[in-house]
Amino acid sequence: MPVTAAPDTARISHHGGDFDALRRQDPEIAEVILGEEQRQSDSLQLIAAENFTSPAVLAALGSPLANKYAEGYPGARHHGGCELVDTAERIAVQRATALFGAEHANVQSHSGSSAVLAAYAALLRPGDTVLAMGLPYGGHLTHGSPANFSGRWFDFVGYGVEAETGVIDYDQVRALARQHRPKAVVCGSISYPRHPDYALFREIADEVGAYLIADAAHPMGLIAGGAAPNPVPYADVVCATTHKVLRGPRGGMILCGSELAERIDRAVFPFTQGGAQMHTIAAKAVAFGEAATPAFTTYAHRVVANARALAEELADEGFAVLTGGTDTHLISADPAPLGVDGRIARGRLAAAGLVLDTCALPYGDGRGIRLGTAAVTTQGMGETEMSRIASLFTAAIREEGEEARKIRTDVREMAGRFPPYQR
Ligand SMILES: *Cc1c(COP(=O)(O)O)cnc(C)c1O
Repeated sequence: MPVTAAPDTARISHHGGDFDALRRQDPEIAEVILGEEQRQSDSLQLIAAENFTSPAVLAALGSPLANKYAEGYPGARHHGGCELVDTAERIAVQRATALFGAEHANVQSHSGSSAVLAAYAALLRPGDTVLAMGLPYGGHLTHGSPANFSGRWFDFVGYGVEAETGVIDYDQVRALARQHRPKAVVCGSISYPRHPDYALFREIADEVGAYLIADAAHPMGLIAGGAAPNPVPYADVVCATTHKVLRGPRGGMILCGSELAERIDRAVFPFTQGGAQMHTIAAKAVAFGEAATPAFTTYAHRVVANARALAEELADEGFAVLTGGTDTHLISADPAPLGVDGRIARGRLAAAGLVLDTCALPYGDGRGIRLGTAAVTTQGMGETEMSRIASLFTAAIREEGEEARKIRTDVREMAGRFPPYQR
């Protein structure tokens, strides 16, 4: 399919509402949306947390459910007229519990961070001690950053990884748990490419009488597709996002056993949120339905196979791949052997149309790069393309001027062969 220079409305076949109406009403914003659609389809989205949600999910997001106020839960709302959105939320909850084998699901969290906030609100009091992965090792902002409510309201202790292997230092986790007697232990990360040992985390939490919170924001889609272990049997509470590998709308969710169900629900509404976003909840239901299909299982396994292939190719190109590879969609690597740090690498890669993030490294002050294969796999790319991407990485980092412009053209051509949305 030829790549058009100027975006036009005909290219948009998957938007949630009436795009022509938007163009007439607000050409300025319409242009932004068209330009962003173009950007997403002529560069490669390697940000580990991003994906291309389906046209069905986008349709639910752009639906009149966006108009509905619905504080409370199905059958117990503070507003009238909720019968139909109640049905949407019941379907979302039923699909989520079936998909992940959980007794209870709350699908109202506006984001992954809101889900974590609600989990803490349900289980902890301000000033309680929490043991979580330290931010320099891949902990999320909600795992004790001083700039976040978590670091302000709780007393976080951070565990890390073994210097040599990059794998979580479980001896340290256990020692810190014994020393600090946390009220909760959190496992989950923004850049750790391996599976947490949920059974071992459970054992350590039990030993000190702590709750175990699994923040599975990243791997939740892999879990849905059977390509990563499920924390539900081990954790008291599982928090997640619905928009990462899971490929649903931007949002959060919480899973727990029946005994915590009411506390979790009240921690979401009314404690930390107001009205539920019913268009998003309907879109979550659509995504859970998609994630329950054999096609999604195939997708989840392909995401991991692609990440493994790409990690190997990057290592061959000279990148220092943390933990020596990946079990997930996520790759963290240090580009220092190529003579640049993560920030410079990110800039040069972005100029070539290879879009990704930097990440903390478990050693030194430099930054690494963090990328994932969820979006490119949704586009239909396979191991041949992963190999090509790895060589484009090296070229983009090394070349400047005219050569660099040629790499941008190569990336555009490659992306053009795998349009994220069929027209
Ligand atoms: C992405 C992520 C979050 C936060 O999700 P948002 O929707 O951006 O708030 C929380 N925890 C972890 C581990 C994450 O990866």
